[in-house]
Amino acid sequence: MTVSSISSTAHSRHSELWSCILDEGALATEPVLSGLAVRYAFMETPELPLRAVFELDLLGTTPESIPECIAWHSLRLGPSCYSGGKQSYSRPIPIVKDRPGGQNTNKHLQADPILNVLDIVKPGVLTGDEVRKLFLYAQEKGFAIPAVNCTSSSTINAVLEAARDQKTPIIIQVSQGGSAFYAGKGLPNGNQEASILGAVAAAKHVREVAKAYGVPVVMHSDHCAKKLLPWMDGMIEADEAYFKEHGVPLFSSHMIDLSEETNEVNIGTTRKYFERLAKVNCFLEMEIGITGGEEDGVNNEDVDASKLYTTPEDVYQVYKSLSEVGPNFSIAAAFGNVHGVYKPGNVVLRPGLLKTYQDYVVEKENITNNKKPVFLVFHGGSGSTHEEIIEAVSYGVVKMNVDTDTQWAYLCGVRDFVQEKAGYLEAQVGNPEGQDKPNKKYYDPRVWVRCGEKTMSKRVSEANTSLGNVNTL
Ligand SMILES: [Zn+2]
Repeated sequence: MTVSSISSTAHSRHSELWSCILDEGALATEPVLSGLAVRYAFMETPELPLRAVFELDLLGTTPESIPECIAWHSLRLGPSCYSGGKQSYSRPIPIVKDRPGGQNTNKHLQADPILNVLDIVKPGVLTGDEVRKLFLYAQEKGFAIPAVNCTSSSTINAVLEAARDQKTPIIIQVSQGGSAFYAGKGLPNGNQEASILGAVAAAKHVREVAKAYGVPVVMHSDHCAKKLLPWMDGMIEADEAYFKEHGVPLFSSHMIDLSEETNEVNIGTTRKYFERLAKVNCFLEMEIGITGGEEDGVNNEDVDASKLYTTPEDVYQVYKSLSEVGPNFSIAAAFGNVHGVYKPGNVVLRPGLLKTYQDYVVEKENITNNKKPVFLVFHGGSGSTHEEIIEAVSYGVVKMNVDTDTQWAYLCGVRDFVQEKAGYLEAQVGNPEGQDKPNKKYYDPRVWVRCGEKTMSKRVSEANTSLGNVNTL
Protein backbone atom coordinates (compact mmCIF):
# COMPACT_ATOMS: atom_id res chain seq x y z
CA MET A 1 0.00 0.00 0.00
CA THR A 2 1.51 3.33 -1.00
CA VAL A 3 0.40 6.82 -0.22
CA SER A 4 1.30 9.70 -2.49
CA SER A 5 0.00 13.19 -3.01
CA ILE A 6 -0.86 15.47 -5.87
CA SER A 7 0.25 19.04 -5.89
CA SER A 8 -1.81 21.42 -7.92
CA THR A 9 -0.93 23.90 -10.61
CA ALA A 10 -2.92 26.51 -12.46
CA HIS A 11 -5.23 25.07 -15.03
CA SER A 12 -4.31 26.10 -18.52
CA ARG A 13 -5.67 25.78 -22.02
CA HIS A 14 -3.81 22.52 -22.23
CA SER A 15 -5.85 20.98 -19.49
CA GLU A 16 -9.43 19.96 -19.20
CA LEU A 17 -11.80 19.11 -16.42
CA TRP A 18 -13.39 15.71 -16.42
CA SER A 19 -15.73 14.07 -14.00
CA CYS A 20 -16.45 10.45 -13.50
CA ILE A 21 -18.96 8.54 -11.51
CA LEU A 22 -17.36 5.56 -9.86
CA ASP A 23 -19.24 2.70 -8.37
CA GLU A 24 -18.15 -0.30 -6.38
CA GLY A 25 -15.22 -1.97 -8.00
CA ALA A 26 -13.87 1.28 -9.38
CA LEU A 27 -13.07 3.09 -6.23
CA ALA A 28 -10.63 5.56 -7.63
CA THR A 29 -7.96 6.59 -10.03
CA GLU A 30 -4.28 6.76 -10.79
CA PRO A 31 -2.63 10.19 -10.81
CA VAL A 32 -0.08 9.71 -13.53
CA LEU A 33 -0.75 7.29 -16.34
CA SER A 34 0.84 7.14 -19.75
CA GLY A 35 1.97 10.74 -19.49
CA LEU A 36 -1.43 11.80 -18.29
CA ALA A 37 -1.17 14.02 -15.22
CA VAL A 38 -4.01 14.52 -12.82
CA ARG A 39 -3.64 18.09 -11.75
CA TYR A 40 -6.44 18.33 -9.29
CA ALA A 41 -9.19 16.24 -7.95
CA PHE A 42 -11.88 16.24 -5.37
CA MET A 43 -14.38 13.73 -4.28
CA GLU A 44 -17.93 14.93 -4.05
CA THR A 45 -19.23 12.22 -1.80
CA PRO A 46 -17.58 9.92 0.68
CA GLU A 47 -19.97 7.04 -0.06
CA LEU A 48 -20.87 5.29 -3.29
CA PRO A 49 -21.44 6.30 -5.96
CA LEU A 50 -18.28 8.31 -5.76
CA ARG A 51 -18.02 11.34 -7.88
CA ALA A 52 -14.56 12.52 -8.73
CA VAL A 53 -13.49 15.60 -10.61
CA PHE A 54 -10.10 15.70 -12.25
CA GLU A 55 -8.15 18.24 -14.06
CA LEU A 56 -6.05 16.40 -16.58
CA ASP A 57 -3.07 17.50 -18.53
CA LEU A 58 -4.14 16.79 -22.08
CA LEU A 59 -0.84 17.36 -23.84
CA GLY A 60 -0.17 14.36 -26.01
CA THR A 61 -3.38 12.66 -24.96
CA THR A 62 -6.62 12.13 -26.80
CA PRO A 63 -9.81 12.67 -24.85
CA GLU A 64 -10.96 9.16 -25.78
CA SER A 65 -8.06 7.63 -23.94
CA ILE A 66 -8.87 9.36 -20.66
CA PRO A 67 -11.60 7.08 -19.32
CA GLU A 68 -9.43 4.09 -19.99
CA CYS A 69 -6.46 5.66 -18.29
CA ILE A 70 -8.51 6.64 -15.28
CA ALA A 71 -10.00 3.21 -14.99
CA TRP A 72 -6.79 1.33 -15.43
CA HIS A 73 -5.65 1.46 -11.86
CA SER A 74 -7.97 1.35 -8.91
CA LEU A 75 -7.04 3.64 -6.12
CA ARG A 76 -8.88 5.24 -3.31
CA LEU A 77 -8.93 9.00 -3.06
CA GLY A 78 -8.71 10.78 0.24
CA PRO A 79 -10.74 13.63 1.72
CA SER A 80 -12.36 16.24 -0.42
CA CYS A 81 -9.94 18.79 -1.72
CA TYR A 82 -9.54 21.25 -4.47
CA SER A 83 -7.27 23.96 -5.72
CA GLY A 84 -7.32 27.15 -7.66
CA GLY A 85 -4.72 29.30 -9.30
CA LYS A 86 -1.01 29.29 -8.85
CA GLN A 87 -1.20 30.08 -5.14
CA SER A 88 -2.53 26.66 -4.46
CA TYR A 89 -4.30 25.94 -1.22
CA SER A 90 -4.87 22.35 -2.03
CA ARG A 91 -4.34 19.95 0.79
CA PRO A 92 -2.41 16.92 -0.39
CA ILE A 93 -4.65 14.12 -1.52
CA PRO A 94 -3.60 10.82 -0.01
CA ILE A 95 -3.78 8.18 -2.69
CA VAL A 96 -4.01 4.68 -1.38
CA LYS A 97 -3.32 1.95 -3.88
CA ASP A 98 -5.57 -0.86 -2.93
CA ARG A 99 -5.08 -2.87 -6.08
CA PRO A 100 -1.37 -2.79 -6.81
CA GLY A 101 -1.56 -4.73 -10.07
CA GLY A 102 -4.44 -2.68 -11.33
CA GLN A 103 -7.16 -3.97 -13.57
CA ASN A 104 -9.38 -2.41 -16.13
CA THR A 105 -12.54 -1.39 -14.32
CA ASN A 106 -13.87 0.50 -17.29
CA LYS A 107 -17.27 -1.13 -17.06
CA HIS A 108 -17.77 0.59 -13.73
CA LEU A 109 -16.90 3.99 -15.03
CA GLN A 110 -18.66 6.60 -17.09
CA ALA A 111 -16.60 9.62 -17.92
CA ASP A 112 -17.98 12.85 -19.32
CA PRO A 113 -16.24 16.11 -19.98
CA ILE A 114 -17.39 18.58 -17.34
CA LEU A 115 -18.99 21.66 -18.73
CA ASN A 116 -17.37 24.98 -18.02
CA VAL A 117 -19.30 28.05 -16.86
CA LEU A 118 -19.77 29.34 -20.41
CA ASP A 119 -21.37 26.04 -21.39
CA ILE A 120 -23.99 26.70 -18.75
CA VAL A 121 -24.56 30.46 -18.87
CA LYS A 122 -23.75 33.23 -21.34
CA PRO A 123 -21.61 36.33 -20.86
CA GLY A 124 -23.60 39.30 -19.61
CA VAL A 125 -26.11 39.76 -16.80
CA LEU A 126 -27.66 36.51 -15.57
CA THR A 127 -31.27 35.74 -14.66
CA GLY A 128 -32.33 34.07 -11.41
CA ASP A 129 -32.36 30.58 -12.96
CA GLU A 130 -28.92 31.18 -14.39
CA VAL A 131 -27.61 32.38 -11.02
CA ARG A 132 -28.83 29.11 -9.51
CA LYS A 133 -27.08 27.10 -12.23
CA LEU A 134 -23.89 29.03 -11.66
CA PHE A 135 -24.05 28.49 -7.89
CA LEU A 136 -24.74 24.76 -8.34
CA TYR A 137 -21.74 24.57 -10.62
CA ALA A 138 -19.58 26.45 -8.10
CA GLN A 139 -20.66 24.10 -5.30
CA GLU A 140 -19.91 21.10 -7.47
CA LYS A 141 -16.47 22.39 -8.39
CA GLY A 142 -15.76 23.68 -4.89
CA PHE A 143 -15.26 27.37 -5.53
CA ALA A 144 -17.07 30.57 -4.63
CA ILE A 145 -17.53 33.87 -6.42
CA PRO A 146 -16.59 37.24 -4.96
CA ALA A 147 -19.35 39.84 -4.78
CA VAL A 148 -17.71 43.20 -5.00
CA ASN A 149 -19.41 46.38 -3.85
CA CYS A 150 -19.27 49.08 -6.50
CA THR A 151 -20.15 52.76 -6.31
CA SER A 152 -19.27 54.03 -9.78
CA SER A 153 -18.74 52.98 -13.37
CA SER A 154 -15.01 53.12 -12.61
CA THR A 155 -15.20 50.53 -9.84
CA ILE A 156 -17.56 48.36 -11.89
CA ASN A 157 -15.14 48.37 -14.82
CA ALA A 158 -12.25 47.49 -12.51
CA VAL A 159 -14.17 44.43 -11.32
CA LEU A 160 -15.13 43.36 -14.84
CA GLU A 161 -11.53 43.74 -15.94
CA ALA A 162 -10.34 41.38 -13.19
CA ALA A 163 -13.00 38.83 -14.16
CA ARG A 164 -12.07 39.05 -17.83
CA ASP A 165 -8.35 38.68 -17.15
CA GLN A 166 -8.87 35.68 -14.89
CA LYS A 167 -11.67 34.19 -17.02
CA THR A 168 -14.23 34.02 -14.25
CA PRO A 169 -17.86 34.78 -13.52
CA ILE A 170 -18.26 37.68 -11.10
CA ILE A 171 -20.82 39.30 -8.84
CA ILE A 172 -21.24 43.07 -8.82
CA GLN A 173 -23.34 44.52 -6.05
CA VAL A 174 -24.55 47.94 -5.08
CA SER A 175 -25.57 48.98 -1.59
CA GLN A 176 -28.29 51.52 -0.90
CA GLY A 177 -25.71 54.19 -0.13
CA GLY A 178 -23.49 53.13 -3.01
CA SER A 179 -26.46 53.37 -5.37
CA ALA A 180 -27.23 56.91 -4.21
CA PHE A 181 -23.59 57.79 -4.81
CA TYR A 182 -23.79 56.24 -8.27
CA ALA A 183 -26.67 58.57 -9.17
CA GLY A 184 -24.87 61.51 -7.55
CA LYS A 185 -24.63 62.74 -3.97
CA GLY A 186 -26.17 66.03 -5.08
CA LEU A 187 -29.57 64.40 -5.64
CA PRO A 188 -32.21 64.24 -2.86
CA ASN A 189 -32.75 60.73 -1.48
CA GLY A 190 -35.49 61.20 1.13
CA ASN A 191 -37.71 58.58 -0.49
CA GLN A 192 -34.84 56.45 -1.81
CA GLU A 193 -35.28 58.02 -5.22
CA ALA A 194 -31.53 58.50 -5.78
CA SER A 195 -30.79 54.98 -4.52
CA ILE A 196 -33.35 53.52 -6.92
CA LEU A 197 -32.07 55.61 -9.79
CA GLY A 198 -28.41 54.82 -9.06
CA ALA A 199 -28.98 51.08 -8.74
CA VAL A 200 -30.92 51.04 -12.01
CA ALA A 201 -28.20 53.09 -13.73
CA ALA A 202 -25.50 50.73 -12.42
CA ALA A 203 -27.46 47.69 -13.62
CA LYS A 204 -27.91 49.27 -17.05
CA HIS A 205 -24.22 50.13 -17.22
CA VAL A 206 -23.33 46.53 -16.40
CA ARG A 207 -25.83 45.24 -18.95
CA GLU A 208 -24.23 47.40 -21.63
CA VAL A 209 -20.58 46.64 -20.94
CA ALA A 210 -20.45 43.14 -19.40
CA LYS A 211 -20.79 41.38 -22.73
CA ALA A 212 -17.80 43.28 -24.08
CA TYR A 213 -15.75 41.85 -21.20
CA GLY A 214 -17.05 38.39 -22.09
CA VAL A 215 -17.92 37.33 -18.56
CA PRO A 216 -21.16 36.24 -16.88
CA VAL A 217 -22.17 38.75 -14.22
CA VAL A 218 -24.56 38.48 -11.32
CA MET A 219 -25.93 42.01 -10.93
CA HIS A 220 -27.01 42.17 -7.32
CA SER A 221 -28.24 44.68 -4.77
CA ASP A 222 -26.81 44.43 -1.25
CA HIS A 223 -28.40 44.67 2.24
CA CYS A 224 -31.89 46.11 2.32
CA ALA A 225 -33.16 46.59 5.87
CA LYS A 226 -36.82 47.24 6.75
CA LYS A 227 -36.56 51.02 6.61
CA LEU A 228 -34.99 50.77 3.13
CA LEU A 229 -37.73 48.62 1.59
CA PRO A 230 -38.91 51.49 -0.65
CA TRP A 231 -35.48 51.13 -2.34
CA MET A 232 -36.17 47.43 -2.94
CA ASP A 233 -39.68 48.21 -4.20
CA GLY A 234 -38.27 50.66 -6.71
CA MET A 235 -35.68 48.19 -7.99
CA ILE A 236 -38.26 45.41 -8.32
CA GLU A 237 -40.54 47.76 -10.26
CA ALA A 238 -37.62 48.28 -12.64
CA ASP A 239 -37.18 44.49 -12.86
CA GLU A 240 -40.85 44.03 -13.65
CA ALA A 241 -40.82 46.71 -16.33
CA TYR A 242 -37.66 45.25 -17.87
CA PHE A 243 -39.15 41.76 -17.71
CA LYS A 244 -42.26 42.95 -19.56
CA GLU A 245 -40.13 44.27 -22.37
CA HIS A 246 -37.26 41.76 -22.53
CA GLY A 247 -38.45 38.61 -20.71
CA VAL A 248 -35.65 38.93 -18.14
CA PRO A 249 -35.28 41.04 -14.99
CA LEU A 250 -33.01 44.10 -14.98
CA PHE A 251 -31.06 42.77 -11.96
CA SER A 252 -30.01 39.16 -11.44
CA SER A 253 -30.57 39.19 -7.74
CA HIS A 254 -31.49 41.26 -4.67
CA MET A 255 -30.74 40.95 -1.01
CA ILE A 256 -33.32 41.55 1.68
CA ASP A 257 -31.97 41.81 5.21
CA LEU A 258 -34.62 41.76 7.91
CA SER A 259 -32.32 39.99 10.33
CA GLU A 260 -32.94 42.61 12.99
CA GLU A 261 -36.64 41.75 13.04
CA THR A 262 -38.14 38.69 14.71
CA ASN A 263 -37.79 35.44 12.73
CA GLU A 264 -41.49 35.51 12.03
CA VAL A 265 -41.40 38.98 10.49
CA ASN A 266 -38.09 38.29 8.75
CA ILE A 267 -39.15 35.05 7.08
CA GLY A 268 -42.74 36.14 6.41
CA THR A 269 -41.80 39.41 4.72
CA THR A 270 -38.86 37.86 2.87
CA ARG A 271 -41.16 35.21 1.47
CA LYS A 272 -43.60 37.84 0.16
CA TYR A 273 -40.75 39.57 -1.66
CA PHE A 274 -39.47 36.23 -2.93
CA GLU A 275 -42.88 35.44 -4.42
CA ARG A 276 -42.76 38.71 -6.34
CA LEU A 277 -39.15 38.18 -7.48
CA ALA A 278 -39.77 34.58 -8.57
CA LYS A 279 -42.35 35.84 -11.07
CA VAL A 280 -39.69 37.82 -12.93
CA ASN A 281 -36.94 35.17 -12.63
CA CYS A 282 -34.90 37.11 -10.10
CA PHE A 283 -32.72 35.49 -7.42
CA LEU A 284 -33.02 36.41 -3.73
CA GLU A 285 -30.49 36.50 -0.92
CA MET A 286 -31.69 36.86 2.65
CA GLU A 287 -30.02 37.15 6.03
CA ILE A 288 -30.83 35.40 9.27
CA GLY A 289 -28.73 36.12 12.32
CA ILE A 290 -26.75 39.33 12.41
CA THR A 291 -23.45 40.13 10.76
CA GLY A 292 -21.49 42.19 13.25
CA GLY A 293 -19.62 45.42 12.67
CA GLU A 294 -20.59 48.41 10.59
CA GLU A 295 -21.31 48.74 6.89
CA ASP A 296 -22.98 51.39 4.81
CA GLY A 297 -24.21 53.27 7.88
CA VAL A 298 -25.78 50.21 9.54
CA ASN A 299 -24.04 49.66 12.85
CA ASN A 300 -24.24 46.26 14.54
CA GLU A 301 -21.21 46.70 16.75
CA ASP A 302 -23.24 46.44 19.97
CA VAL A 303 -25.48 43.52 19.05
CA ASP A 304 -25.88 40.70 21.58
CA ALA A 305 -23.21 38.06 20.84
CA SER A 306 -25.72 35.16 20.61
CA LYS A 307 -27.37 36.87 17.61
CA LEU A 308 -24.01 36.72 15.80
CA TYR A 309 -24.37 32.93 15.46
CA THR A 310 -27.35 31.63 13.47
CA THR A 311 -28.77 28.29 14.61
CA PRO A 312 -29.36 25.35 12.21
CA GLU A 313 -33.06 25.49 13.17
CA ASP A 314 -33.28 29.09 11.94
CA VAL A 315 -31.61 28.24 8.64
CA TYR A 316 -33.95 25.31 8.18
CA GLN A 317 -37.01 27.47 8.87
CA VAL A 318 -35.92 29.79 6.06
CA TYR A 319 -35.07 26.93 3.71
CA LYS A 320 -38.44 25.28 4.26
CA SER A 321 -40.48 28.42 3.77
CA LEU A 322 -38.65 29.73 0.70
CA SER A 323 -38.33 26.32 -0.98
CA GLU A 324 -42.11 26.23 -1.20
CA VAL A 325 -41.91 29.26 -3.49
CA GLY A 326 -38.88 28.36 -5.62
CA PRO A 327 -35.25 27.26 -5.67
CA ASN A 328 -33.57 30.57 -6.51
CA PHE A 329 -32.46 31.82 -3.11
CA SER A 330 -29.42 31.93 -0.89
CA ILE A 331 -28.95 32.44 2.83
CA ALA A 332 -26.46 34.70 4.56
CA ALA A 333 -26.22 33.19 8.00
CA ALA A 334 -24.15 34.61 10.82
CA PHE A 335 -21.25 32.46 11.94
CA GLY A 336 -19.23 35.10 13.72
CA ASN A 337 -18.56 37.14 10.59
CA VAL A 338 -18.10 40.89 10.97
CA HIS A 339 -18.38 43.71 8.43
CA GLY A 340 -15.25 45.78 8.07
CA VAL A 341 -11.77 45.07 9.31
CA TYR A 342 -11.07 45.29 13.01
CA LYS A 343 -8.42 44.14 15.37
CA PRO A 344 -9.20 40.61 16.57
CA GLY A 345 -11.99 40.96 19.09
CA ASN A 346 -14.60 38.99 20.97
CA VAL A 347 -16.37 37.60 17.93
CA VAL A 348 -14.81 34.39 16.72
CA LEU A 349 -15.49 33.12 13.22
CA ARG A 350 -16.90 29.59 13.28
CA PRO A 351 -17.08 28.28 9.70
CA GLY A 352 -17.90 24.83 11.11
CA LEU A 353 -21.38 26.17 11.86
CA LEU A 354 -22.05 26.33 8.11
CA LYS A 355 -21.72 22.57 7.92
CA THR A 356 -24.23 22.14 10.71
CA TYR A 357 -26.76 24.17 8.66
CA GLN A 358 -26.32 21.91 5.64
CA ASP A 359 -26.41 18.74 7.75
CA TYR A 360 -29.57 19.85 9.51
CA VAL A 361 -31.41 20.61 6.27
CA VAL A 362 -30.25 17.30 4.76
CA GLU A 363 -31.52 15.43 7.81
CA LYS A 364 -34.82 17.27 8.13
CA GLU A 365 -35.66 17.03 4.44
CA ASN A 366 -34.28 13.53 4.02
CA ILE A 367 -32.11 14.64 1.11
CA THR A 368 -30.04 11.75 -0.21
CA ASN A 369 -28.36 13.15 -3.29
CA ASN A 370 -26.95 16.46 -2.07
CA LYS A 371 -24.89 17.22 1.00
CA LYS A 372 -25.03 20.98 0.42
CA PRO A 373 -28.65 21.84 -0.36
CA VAL A 374 -28.31 25.45 0.79
CA PHE A 375 -26.54 28.21 -1.14
CA LEU A 376 -24.66 30.02 1.61
CA VAL A 377 -23.29 33.54 1.47
CA PHE A 378 -20.30 34.84 3.42
CA HIS A 379 -20.69 38.46 4.50
CA GLY A 380 -18.00 40.34 6.34
CA GLY A 381 -15.20 38.28 4.83
CA SER A 382 -12.61 41.06 4.75
CA GLY A 383 -9.75 40.19 7.05
CA SER A 384 -10.59 36.46 7.22
CA THR A 385 -7.75 33.98 7.04
CA HIS A 386 -7.22 31.84 4.00
CA GLU A 387 -8.04 28.68 5.96
CA GLU A 388 -11.31 30.14 7.21
CA ILE A 389 -12.35 31.04 3.68
CA ILE A 390 -11.46 27.60 2.32
CA GLU A 391 -13.36 25.90 5.09
CA ALA A 392 -16.44 28.08 4.49
CA VAL A 393 -16.38 27.32 0.75
CA SER A 394 -16.11 23.60 1.43
CA TYR A 395 -19.44 23.82 3.31
CA GLY A 396 -21.31 25.29 0.36
CA VAL A 397 -20.57 29.01 0.45
CA VAL A 398 -21.02 30.20 -3.14
CA LYS A 399 -20.72 33.97 -2.72
CA MET A 400 -18.38 35.99 -0.59
CA ASN A 401 -18.82 39.71 -0.20
CA VAL A 402 -15.82 41.95 -0.62
CA ASP A 403 -16.10 45.64 0.11
CA THR A 404 -13.71 46.96 2.73
CA ASP A 405 -10.62 45.43 1.14
CA THR A 406 -11.44 46.67 -2.38
CA GLN A 407 -12.20 50.17 -1.05
CA TRP A 408 -8.78 50.17 0.51
CA ALA A 409 -7.16 48.81 -2.65
CA TYR A 410 -8.75 51.54 -4.81
CA LEU A 411 -7.44 54.22 -2.48
CA CYS A 412 -3.94 52.73 -2.42
CA GLY A 413 -3.51 53.14 -6.18
CA VAL A 414 -4.67 56.76 -6.12
CA ARG A 415 -2.70 57.58 -2.95
CA ASP A 416 0.54 56.13 -4.28
CA PHE A 417 0.19 58.05 -7.52
CA VAL A 418 -0.49 61.34 -5.73
CA GLN A 419 2.42 60.83 -3.36
CA GLU A 420 4.81 59.75 -6.08
CA LYS A 421 3.87 62.56 -8.44
CA ALA A 422 3.42 65.26 -5.78
CA GLY A 423 5.77 67.61 -7.60
CA TYR A 424 3.59 67.41 -10.72
CA LEU A 425 0.31 68.04 -8.91
CA GLU A 426 0.88 71.43 -7.29
CA ALA A 427 -0.15 73.55 -10.23
CA GLN A 428 -1.49 73.04 -13.74
CA VAL A 429 1.84 74.23 -15.13
CA GLY A 430 5.29 73.79 -13.60
CA ASN A 431 6.93 70.68 -12.18
CA PRO A 432 10.41 69.40 -11.23
CA GLU A 433 11.30 69.21 -14.94
CA GLY A 434 10.71 72.89 -15.56
CA GLN A 435 8.63 75.92 -14.56
CA ASP A 436 6.64 75.96 -17.81
CA LYS A 437 6.09 72.23 -18.12
CA PRO A 438 2.36 71.34 -18.27
CA ASN A 439 0.94 68.75 -15.83
CA LYS A 440 -2.19 67.71 -17.69
CA LYS A 441 -1.02 64.14 -18.17
CA TYR A 442 -0.76 63.83 -14.36
CA TYR A 443 -3.99 65.46 -13.21
CA ASP A 444 -6.28 64.05 -15.90
CA PRO A 445 -8.65 61.76 -13.93
CA ARG A 446 -8.07 59.06 -16.53
CA VAL A 447 -4.53 58.82 -15.16
CA TRP A 448 -4.96 58.84 -11.39
CA VAL A 449 -8.42 57.23 -11.25
CA ARG A 450 -6.97 54.51 -13.48
CA CYS A 451 -4.33 53.83 -10.79
CA GLY A 452 -7.14 53.11 -8.33
CA GLU A 453 -8.85 50.86 -10.85
CA LYS A 454 -5.69 48.85 -11.34
CA THR A 455 -5.07 48.25 -7.64
CA MET A 456 -8.74 47.47 -7.08
CA SER A 457 -8.74 45.05 -10.00
CA LYS A 458 -5.70 43.35 -8.52
CA ARG A 459 -7.46 42.97 -5.17
CA VAL A 460 -10.50 41.43 -6.92
CA SER A 461 -8.13 38.96 -8.59
CA GLU A 462 -6.78 38.03 -5.17
CA ALA A 463 -10.33 37.41 -3.96
CA ASN A 464 -10.99 35.26 -7.03
CA THR A 465 -7.82 33.30 -6.39
CA SER A 466 -8.50 32.70 -2.72
CA LEU A 467 -12.01 31.48 -3.56
CA GLY A 468 -10.78 29.11 -6.28
CA ASN A 469 -12.53 31.16 -8.98
CA VAL A 470 -9.78 31.22 -11.59
CA ASN A 471 -10.09 30.02 -15.20
CA THR A 472 -13.59 28.83 -14.49
CA LEU A 473 -15.17 30.03 -17.74
ZN1 LIG B 1 -23.02 42.30 4.28
